Amino acid sequence: MPLVPMLQLLEEAAKKGYGVGAYNVNNMEQIQAIMQAARETQSPVIIQASRGALKYSNLIYLKKLMEAAVEENPDIPVAMHLDHGNSLETCKTAIALGFTSVMIDASLMGDGKTIASYEYNVETSRSVVEYAHARGVTVEAELGALGGIEDGHGAGLAADDTTHLTDPEQAVDFVQKTGCDCLALAIGTSHGAYKTLRYDKDGNPLPPRLALDRIEQIENNLEKAGYPNFPLVMHGSSSVPPELVEVVNKYGGQMKKSMGIPMQDIQFGIARGVRKINVDTDGRIAMTGAVRKLLWEKPEKFDPRDWLTPAREALYQVIKGKMIDFGTAGHAKDYAPMTLADMKKRYEKQTAGAR
Ligand SMILES: [Zn+2]
Repeated sequence: MPLVPMLQLLEEAAKKGYGVGAYNVNNMEQIQAIMQAARETQSPVIIQASRGALKYSNLIYLKKLMEAAVEENPDIPVAMHLDHGNSLETCKTAIALGFTSVMIDASLMGDGKTIASYEYNVETSRSVVEYAHARGVTVEAELGALGGIEDGHGAGLAADDTTHLTDPEQAVDFVQKTGCDCLALAIGTSHGAYKTLRYDKDGNPLPPRLALDRIEQIENNLEKAGYPNFPLVMHGSSSVPPELVEVVNKYGGQMKKSMGIPMQDIQFGIARGVRKINVDTDGRIAMTGAVRKLLWEKPEKFDPRDWLTPAREALYQVIKGKMIDFGTAGHAKDYAPMTLADMKKRYEKQTAGAR
């Protein structure tokens, strides 16, 4: 099976009411863990790479790793997605590498920190849609701005700042003007392990404030405007399970107490149109905990395979759980995969119809 346009995975998920996880990759062990989980649960899967991952892997290594994943798993629909592309140029690079989907996040300026104007977001996203659709490639755009208090996209925006949430009225105008295939929402989730800055008097973290009602408003507004079942995307959706953080800290780590997005909130979103759920942090914590534990318990070990093997196993366990909880499991063979050429033809027909 070749890499599949991401839009097909999302549309098939909409038909049966489940969500598809998008899992970040940087190296071989992560791709192997994700594919093992997908194979064993028979789940379609989105593997995604951030700009940081492309830099870390020097582009070519990641391209070859994703080709290996597809070759090894011919029965699993796989979409390869660029996470948080910040410009048309970055998206072009990813498409040239063979990605079947790109995110253009023009909610922030190219520096990943400054809030962009609505006009800039529309114009930049539309230019990526034009370029990508001419090649059958899916486009995710973002309206409203996601926060994060660590490194990465949105770093510096306060996690609990609610002033940049996605406006349900504006969402329709944005989808109409940009022609994007799916929309990343800002509903109070944020990137990283520290999604809440609020603590009770005993120092325990309070749950992040989420505006879950907006998911339904946005999906309803889009349906009324002629976009039924429009795929929505949740970022910053790791659950930050305390048991994983505990392993890290038990073996010498120093992670702060935190709270992520409860699985029932994600399932609430899936029931209302969320089709892609980004998960990175939970896997990072699981891998780090496994490495720390191995090296702590067996300090005489020095073969990287000794600690990479349990790290890969820990990530596999996390992702397998997500595939079951998001409802993705069991859907790998529901449909015949489309190619980018098939999708390109469909976009051409739509454009001709709109004229
Ligand atoms: Zn994100």
